[in-house]
Amino acid sequence: MTSLRNEIRLLGLSLEDGQTLRTVCPNCTAAHEETFILTRDGDRLLYQCKRASCNTKGRIVSNSALKSGSHNQKKVFKPKYFEGEAWPLDEQTPIWSTLKAKYNFSDEDIEVFTQEGVTFELEDFSGLKFLHFPIYREGKLIGTCRKSINHKPKERRKSKLYPHIQGIPYYYFPNVGRSKELFIVEGCMDAIKLACMNKSAMALNGTSLNIEWFAEYLKEAEWIETVVLALDPDAQSIARRMEKDLSLFINSKVLALPKDPKDCTKEQINEGMSLLQI
Ligand SMILES: [Zn+2]
Repeated sequence: MTSLRNEIRLLGLSLEDGQTLRTVCPNCTAAHEETFILTRDGDRLLYQCKRASCNTKGRIVSNSALKSGSHNQKKVFKPKYFEGEAWPLDEQTPIWSTLKAKYNFSDEDIEVFTQEGVTFELEDFSGLKFLHFPIYREGKLIGTCRKSINHKPKERRKSKLYPHIQGIPYYYFPNVGRSKELFIVEGCMDAIKLACMNKSAMALNGTSLNIEWFAEYLKEAEWIETVVLALDPDAQSIARRMEKDLSLFINSKVLALPKDPKDCTKEQINEGMSLLQI
């Protein structure tokens, strides 16, 4: 006798990825009404009978996937490459030796992470400090790896005292090079790119900024004279709105770039900044 699972697999044979079929339920056959909904989602079939008394529902591997074994193949990790140029780190960028003295790291510590010997200091607003080590491949920065330097237990980050609520960013290089501008960007790589150009940058990890929180932050960060919003090109309207909100209490500008800051050349960023007279 054919099992229910096999019957469902047979029904799924005709379905292309993303397609849905409505038919008589193979379990309850409910007066030949089409109560059964079957959808193909890649290697899987999702099914549910709408009849409350039947309550047949679930998710199984499709027939073709069972045969090919494709559902068992592990997804291959593909590192994300930057479209832009490989950008060398400036000599002025705070270098490992400074941090080594400050935090007592050994040469061996750093070799584990990078051959370049350059780190980025990061403080997030939960009170934790991290060092970010750039990871290079074929001369391109493809990511960072981080290490906590003030060793607070993990639970503390999750506690209600230090919530990672939306709109409260991480920041990189506060007051680097004694700049008077703070750049607000979306991602960590954007912030690092600006830090390489000796600019102070704050990463939102998205596009939302908690304005009340930021107003409080500005009271402490007296060095900031101008806030420059350098969000990705697809978030220009958000940047304009943010500029309007921020202009109530700080001089703020929108930096329009042809690409995400991380993918721009230094010349493109410099050109945008000269238009803003920064
Ligand atoms: Zn049913």
